[in-house]
Amino acid sequence: MRSTKIICTIGPSSDDRKTLEAMIMGGMDIARLNRSHGTIEGCREKINSIRNICKSNNKCVALMIDTKGAEIRTGVIAHPVNVKEGEEIIFSSFEMHDDKRSVIEVNYDRFYADVPETDRIIIDNGELILDIVKINKDGSVIARAQSNGSIGSRRHITLPGADIDLPSVTDQDWEDIAFAVEEEVDFLALSFVRTADDVNKVRGFIKEKGGSIQIIPKIETRQAVENISEIIEVSDGIMIARGDLGTDLPFEELPPLQDEIVIQCRDRGVPVIVATHMLESMIEHPMPTRAEVTDVAHAVMTGADATMLSGETAAGNFPLKAIEAMSRIQNYTENHLSRFPRNYEMPVHNEREARAEAAVTLSESAEASLIFVFTRTGKTAKEVSKFHPKKPIIAFTDSSSIQRTLKLCYGIHPYVIPFTDPESTVTEAFKTAIKYELVKEGDDVVLLSDIEAKDATVSSVQVRRFG
Ligand code: PGA
Ligand code: MN
Repeated sequence: MRSTKIICTIGPSSDDRKTLEAMIMGGMDIARLNRSHGTIEGCREKINSIRNICKSNNKCVALMIDTKGAEIRTGVIAHPVNVKEGEEIIFSSFEMHDDKRSVIEVNYDRFYADVPETDRIIIDNGELILDIVKINKDGSVIARAQSNGSIGSRRHITLPGADIDLPSVTDQDWEDIAFAVEEEVDFLALSFVRTADDVNKVRGFIKEKGGSIQIIPKIETRQAVENISEIIEVSDGIMIARGDLGTDLPFEELPPLQDEIVIQCRDRGVPVIVATHMLESMIEHPMPTRAEVTDVAHAVMTGADATMLSGETAAGNFPLKAIEAMSRIQNYTENHLSRFPRNYEMPVHNEREARAEAAVTLSESAEASLIFVFTRTGKTAKEVSKFHPKKPIIAFTDSSSIQRTLKLCYGIHPYVIPFTDPESTVTEAFKTAIKYELVKEGDDVVLLSDIEAKDATVSSVQVRRFG
C-alpha cells in the first residue's frame, strides 16, 4: 500500500470518462480542478463525472478546486509578438503606439508602481526574461529582452520579488470559492496567498456560506515565504507551488526552501503537497527524465504527504503513464526508507500527539501489520500520520466527507463504517478490514480508539490479535 498521495490535475487530456476511470483505478487520490482555465459549467461536469465513476466503482477520490488568484497577464493580441535578443519592448496598461518598439498590453493599471521593486520581467515559466530599462512618465515601462522569444495573448507576467498591489483574492476567486462551497468539494487551493489574514478571510467567507472546505494555500510568492509560519498555523494543508515560486525567487533558493516548508508542516501536523514540474517531460514522453525521478523520490524522502501532477495529466500525451510512474517511484522509495529507523526527531507537542506517537512505536515493537484509528473529525488519524509509521494507518470514520479529506495525508487509508458503541465499532472495523483483504488471521493490529471506562469515555492504545 502506497503511503504518499497523488494529486492529478484534470484537463483536456483527462476529462473523458474512460481516462478518468483509468486514473481513479490507477491510484489518483485527489482530482484537482483548476479555475485558471475553462468555465464553471465545464468544472461542474467534471465534478459530477468523477463522483459518478467513484460511486460505480466503490472508490474514494477527493476533489480540489484551485483558484486563479491575482495574476498579471498580457492582453489579448491577434498574433504573438516575436522578440529578438536586445530588443526593447513597451509594457503598458493602456492602449498606446510607439514608432520604434512593439507594445504589449498588461491587464493591471498599477503595473508601473510595482516595477521599481524589481529589475526584471519574466514571461510564463521563464520562456522570456526582460531587463527593465525605464519607467516612462505616462506609466508605460520599457524593457530589453535577454534572448530571442515571443510574447503571446494572456501570458503570465512575474515581477520577481515585487509585492503586487492587487488584492490576494480577486472577484473571480470569490465566485469560484462560492461555487466550491455549493458543490461541497473537499479542498480549496488558494493561489498567490500572501498572509495568514488572506486565509482567515476566505475561511470566514466559507463559514458564512455554510461550508467546511479544507483550505490549502499555495506558497508561490516571496511574501508567503516570509509569512510561512503564520500561514501554516491557520491552514488545513500547504501546497509548495514551485512553478510561480521559482520565478518570484531565484530558482536556486527553491530546494532548501521546499525542504524547510515540508519540515515545518510536519512539525505542525499540517499536510504538505509538493507541486509542479515533477514529471514535466512526461507531457511529451512516455518515460520521465532521471532528474524528475530523483525529484519525486526526494519529496518522499523528506516526508511530503502528497505530490502533484499538473500539465502531465491535464494536457499531456501520457496522463496514465505519469500516474503510474509517480506511483512506482513513491512505492520504491517508501520500501527503501522502511529499512531505516523512523525519524524520531519529530517533536511531540501535546498529550494527543504523545498518544499517537505511542501507537506508532507500539506498532513497531509489537510488529503489528496495521494501525487502526477511529476518528470522527479526522484529527486523531492526522496525529498518527505525523509520525509516518511504516505500517499503513487504517482510519475508520462515520463520515464520507472526512474520509475524503484524509486522502491527502501520508499513510492513511480511510474507510467509512457506522459508529455505535466502542466494542461493536471495533468489530465492524475488523469486518471491513477482512472485506478489503487488509488483514489475515494471526495478524496483530494496533488500535487507537475510545473505550468506556467507569463513567467516562477514554482514549486507549491497544494491540489485538486478529482471528
Ligand atoms: P499553478 O500553480 O499550476 O496554478 O500555476 C502551481 C505553481 O505555480 O507551481
Ligand atoms: Mn501558480
